[in-house]
Amino acid sequence: MTTQTKRPDGRKPDELRKIIAKVGVIPNADGSALFAFGKTLAIAAVYGPRQLHPQHMQNPSAGILRCNYDLLSFSVAERKKPGPNRRSSEISKAIQWALEPALYLDSFPNQVVDVQVYILQADAGTRTAAINASSMALAHAGIPMKDLVCSLAVGKIDKTIIADLTKEEEDFKEGEGATDFAMAKLANHNQFTLMQMDGKISPAQVKEALELTEGLTKEIFEAQKKALKDLIEEQGDEK
Ligand code: ADP
Repeated sequence: MTTQTKRPDGRKPDELRKIIAKVGVIPNADGSALFAFGKTLAIAAVYGPRQLHPQHMQNPSAGILRCNYDLLSFSVAERKKPGPNRRSSEISKAIQWALEPALYLDSFPNQVVDVQVYILQADAGTRTAAINASSMALAHAGIPMKDLVCSLAVGKIDKTIIADLTKEEEDFKEGEGATDFAMAKLANHNQFTLMQMDGKISPAQVKEALELTEGLTKEIFEAQKKALKDLIEEQGDEK
């Protein structure tokens, strides 16, 4: 890939990869969802709210959100050793922090909601796909929420601001190289819940990248909302 105006997969700079959003994919979970940005595929399962054990970890004034993110071994080109590592622990925390502002945690004191989110296939942007899937799964589980959380990565390749980087784009080394800026936003509130960055970017370019997220978070929100509505309609048809 060279310094470019056209992206390797033919997308425009501000174009997301194809989104797939589906709810109710794990029947035994209280809530579940699948979310894909192109070849990056996340599946989330929500369990709870249920009593938190051991008891000394309970918070009598609010519930606890517990997130666990992992990449499946064959989700990446080089087989990943199974089990948690530093990266998955960090991303699990980032996902928890990105989702918490959307929840009414004080409506389930002493209880816990578990979010298990796995990446079935990774092509960059896994934490953002994981947040989108988890947010839908929480809504599907009926957890009290004030909003859905929409997440995507914006960034730049050399000097061009782009949205939703692939792994090939994240690995771009020429010119100024690549910058990857993962963010999450409450869909209907002017509030960011996650901002993480890899690489270098000027304050003016941060502004430009954040402006790009405006329309794109709406696109993600519409896909999430449609998936939730489709499930309600499917259940209605079955009755
Ligand atoms: P994100 O997936 O949120 O962009 P990172 O920046 O940590 O998070 O990872 C970038 C990409 O690198 C991942 O999406 C995945 O495609 C790839 N990757 C991450 N961990 C591994 C790994 N252990 N082996 C191979 N590729 C990996």
